[in-house]
Amino acid sequence: MGIFDADRYLASIDLIDVDELRAQGVRCVLFDRDNTCVPRDTGIIPPKVAAWFSRVREAGIDLCMVSNNIHADQVRASARELGCDAIAFALKPLPLALTRALRLRGLRPDEAVMVGDQVYTDVVSGTLAGVRTVLVRPQSASDLWYTLILRRLERLIVGDRSFEGE
Ligand SMILES: [Mg+2]
Repeated sequence: MGIFDADRYLASIDLIDVDELRAQGVRCVLFDRDNTCVPRDTGIIPPKVAAWFSRVREAGIDLCMVSNNIHADQVRASARELGCDAIAFALKPLPLALTRALRLRGLRPDEAVMVGDQVYTDVVSGTLAGVRTVLVRPQSASDLWYTLILRRLERLIVGDRSFEGE
């Protein structure tokens, strides 16, 4: 397992089995915002994604949005909509924000999972923080210009790997 390899590859965040999270001892889901739960093109959280967040909360699992987005007000608004905490300007791939979220909750890395749509930010930060990682497909083709460059590099790693649920 390299730093760029996720533990799991899924078509979308809402396909994560909440019962399985509990069985794995996961007590907190750390997750990316843009194109993981909030599509960059519409900015509207899809109902099935919102429903998944409700199921996670009902299972007693904590949630924390960890976003590199510098617009803290937008990040907080999405987190509020999903009923969870948020850290904006997280500086992923550095693991600092993830580690802080776990420390605040008194959790060990093996009690958390990081979910995101980008290898170089989400998967790497999760790996460095020592948590299990899930890479999902981006919800839209709309990305920031530098993300589009990273996507080309990402293809070298993800290649034609199959994602569960596709
Ligand atoms: Mg993202």
